[in-house]
Amino acid sequence: MNQAKKQTPLHIAQQSFDFFQEIRNRLQALPPAITVQWRWVEGHQREAGMTMDWWAKRNDEVDSMAKKFLRACKRSKREHKPVQLWYEKWAIKLHGEKLANINSKQLYIALMRSTTLKDWQTHHTFPIKDPESVDWTSFGKALKRLPTGLQRFVTKFNSGHIGNNHMLHHRNAIPTPLCQNCNSNMIEKSSHVLRCRCPAAKQAFIQNVNKIIRTALTDQKTSPLLQETILSLIFKWRNYQKIRARDYPRDRDIQAAIKEQAIIGWHNFFLGRWSFKWQAVQKKYLFSIGSRRSSSRWATAIIINL
Ligand SMILES: [Zn+2]
Repeated sequence: MNQAKKQTPLHIAQQSFDFFQEIRNRLQALPPAITVQWRWVEGHQREAGMTMDWWAKRNDEVDSMAKKFLRACKRSKREHKPVQLWYEKWAIKLHGEKLANINSKQLYIALMRSTTLKDWQTHHTFPIKDPESVDWTSFGKALKRLPTGLQRFVTKFNSGHIGNNHMLHHRNAIPTPLCQNCNSNMIEKSSHVLRCRCPAAKQAFIQNVNKIIRTALTDQKTSPLLQETILSLIFKWRNYQKIRARDYPRDRDIQAAIKEQAIIGWHNFFLGRWSFKWQAVQKKYLFSIGSRRSSSRWATAIIINL
């Protein structure tokens, strides 16, 4: 009732945005001689056995009418389709259904998901050959749990827009895009930064993996075999060694995860764009030890530490 009578602007994302628009526009359309007075009536008074005044009776009456109509709709299996209301000035349909309120995030996903995923397939520094098989939910949850500054850093780094030599050169700020830390003659893109051959970078990487990722894997009760595999994969990838599923013969599920991750890409594994299959391996392990922990929480907790 407060939302209906107030003059403050409505927000498109609020519940029943369409109905509030309708009510407010109807009120505005009334001749000036008519003033509307608002009165709150407690609902379900009859069911509660209360003594009902005239207002409560009217409320009960319309309530029964609505219920009767609903029953008739259910009996006749009447198809429910949200429609643009008479006084609703504009409405947005998504997949042919009118939206009662507009969630910009949902709308963005509906409009841009396929374009964005297609874009990632040919990305200049971190291409994802099969973006549909990425567990984006765990990645998104991990990203959200980081402090705002880090969130920005990760987004820029992962999209290749961080101020590394490649980008600074692109913006004409420095004369060369090449990495100045190693003699590889390679362009310093985000992907190079992760695997720069400079001894200091390599040492820092090994230290961080052992300190942060190893600890997180243990703390999160990761399957011992999976712990071993993940660490081995990260070091192999860092050392430019070939990663083959057949080198991990002790578990078929791990092999399947390796095969799918190989298509997504190993850079992407390190960035937290994981195949769903990693979670499946951990889920089986948790079940086998009778743990009630969630494998999706596990994935998020590991990814956050990458
Ligand atoms: Zn380098």
